Amino acid sequence: MALKTIGIEIDDKVYKRAETKAEAEQKTINRVVVEALYAYIGETPPPLPKPKEPEPPAETPGIPKTTIYVVQSGDTLGAIAKKMYGTPTKYYIIQKANNLTDPGKIWVGQKLVIPVLEEDQPTPTQPPATEPQPPTEPETPSTPPTPKPPVADDSTLKNPKPPNIKFVGSPNFNKRPTGEISAVVMHATANGSLERVIDWFNNPNAQVSAHYTIGKDGTIVQHVRDEFRAWHAGKSEWKGRKDLNSWAIGVEMVNWNNGEDPFPEPQYQAGFALVSYLCEKYHIDPDMIVAHYDVSPGRKTDPKGYDMDRLRAEVRKRLGM
Ligand SMILES: [Zn+2]
Repeated sequence: MALKTIGIEIDDKVYKRAETKAEAEQKTINRVVVEALYAYIGETPPPLPKPKEPEPPAETPGIPKTTIYVVQSGDTLGAIAKKMYGTPTKYYIIQKANNLTDPGKIWVGQKLVIPVLEEDQPTPTQPPATEPQPPTEPETPSTPPTPKPPVADDSTLKNPKPPNIKFVGSPNFNKRPTGEISAVVMHATANGSLERVIDWFNNPNAQVSAHYTIGKDGTIVQHVRDEFRAWHAGKSEWKGRKDLNSWAIGVEMVNWNNGEDPFPEPQYQAGFALVSYLCEKYHIDPDMIVAHYDVSPGRKTDPKGYDMDRLRAEVRKRLGM
């Protein structure tokens, strides 16, 4: 049977329902969705493969609190973290314990040290497994988050201070071939939620990432450290040089990229602060602040509707140029 993988977007309410159903039936959410799709076309879904739950490492007193895992075919560090810790986002614990500089480079048969976590991190709280409720009246729209005050427009700033940045990680990166950092590529996420971007870039199967994402309220998160090569630009070329991923920093902005979704002022201000800081730190020429559509023309349109000239002008101003 040929299998196809599809990606779908559902809202939190539907997701929570599916999660509750999956929990109640001891299934994965994927399985619940697959069953729903089969029911839709009036067919029986293929049977589940026999569950093969790996035994969680036993915590025997007197035995060092690590266990050894032998890498299997098809494993990624994130998949192993999911097996061992229940979540792919803890891949970095295994990466650190084994001194892996490139989390993408593991091989079948490799023996990895798996630290046993001292306190069992509580799993994300599940909604109480209640009886499925009949649809209630539509939820009142949640109040929009209060925008943070814009970053001070200190145009005389010679050494822009790093803006507030929260590191959220991603397994999707590798080594920069030369270590060079001399461009910034601006993107739009083509979705509406910073949390979704963080989740997606933390999914090892996504095989995409960026160094930073700026939320609509000006929140800045970092997925990949600047010195590593994030996976945001794909096939790309600028001023005769290919593969921007190897020598650029990727900045995503939460925006639907339809040309109508606005980039609110706090998001602009956070972008000015971040990109000025990066240009100062790595001596990046403001002419090398480019849009994804500049470096992948015909293939990419993001960030559609974002004022790139304003960004470049603001960076020049802040760097005293
Ligand atoms: Zn892009």
